[in-house]
Amino acid sequence: PRLANQIAAGEVVERPASVVKELIENSLDAGATRIEIEIEQGGVKLIRVRDNGRGIPQDDLALALARHATSKVYSLDELEALGSLGFRGEALASVASVSRLTLTSKPANQSEAWQVQSHGRDMATELAPAAHTDGTTVEVRDLFFNTPARRKFLRTEKTEFNHLEEVVKRQALSRFDVAFSLRHNNRTIHSLRAAHTQAEQQRRIAQLLKPEFMTNALVVETERAGLRMTGWVGLPTFSRSMPDMQYFFVNGRVVKDKVIGHAVKQAYRDVLYHGRHPCFVLFLELDSSGVDVNVHPTKHEVRFRDQRLVHDFLFSQLHRALADVRPENDVG
Ligand code: ADP
Ligand code: MG
Repeated sequence: PRLANQIAAGEVVERPASVVKELIENSLDAGATRIEIEIEQGGVKLIRVRDNGRGIPQDDLALALARHATSKVYSLDELEALGSLGFRGEALASVASVSRLTLTSKPANQSEAWQVQSHGRDMATELAPAAHTDGTTVEVRDLFFNTPARRKFLRTEKTEFNHLEEVVKRQALSRFDVAFSLRHNNRTIHSLRAAHTQAEQQRRIAQLLKPEFMTNALVVETERAGLRMTGWVGLPTFSRSMPDMQYFFVNGRVVKDKVIGHAVKQAYRDVLYHGRHPCFVLFLELDSSGVDVNVHPTKHEVRFRDQRLVHDFLFSQLHRALADVRPENDVG
């Protein structure tokens, strides 16, 4: 089973960013309202995610590191129905098998915190008492220390951190109600309070993306035939492409999809931004029966039951929104 863990780890744990994604998802699943992420050396030396979620009871701590030990979902149908992000119960086990991992947790109804550690294949069976407020901290050190082949595929510290920051951005954009902080090599990169009002949300977006995005963005809020779209569409005043400023969420999950991409591009092109690059943060909500989310842990794909309906909705609504603000003298 240990070898199986390491093989499975190859699928789930590709690089530091994938570890961070899994850990944040666990924190969100645990109902955390505050998630603190601390990184050293692009995540290769240290990834520490601390949350104030419901915690892991002492008796379940060691189990949480074991493969297929999910406390969550039982079937894919239930997964969708619950809206739970995690599945299969293999993320922690996979990460543990390729790092030195410390899991510390305290549920609110437990008087003390407890901790369990693993070093690659060797998992300590002993629990140790620890100091921790309500919630959970997962500390991942020396990622891939025991899998040199995988370690060799890591890029520079900067590249790995950029990937990791992108993961945090997506999560922070999809959960305005949760406070996030991200530190790298003891420097604060993002510090985001929970954003409840539209003004607070716009401030979060400006902090995460470029401030210019929000100065020119227009608010989208529209609904038709069971489809609801909210968010912000930026007027691209930039001459250069901004691929990192295109965020589309379907039912709360970031998605890269041809149908969506086409509709958005088309709407921009038709109106005035020919040759320029759209930037947007958009949220599409629809009944879960209208969309299949690819359940592969690392993919961001969806399949709409009625692609045409979704395409036409996105195109027409964006087209209208953009046309409304078209500057008189812009020759496009
Ligand atoms: P999954 O998320 O698919 O259940 P994981 O391997 O990611 O599998 O986590 C295993 C289990 O450990 C989870 O089901 C959950 O019970 C527990 N767990 C992991 N991280 C946290 C956390 N931050 N807070 C509370 N429980 C957690
Ligand atoms: Mg998980």
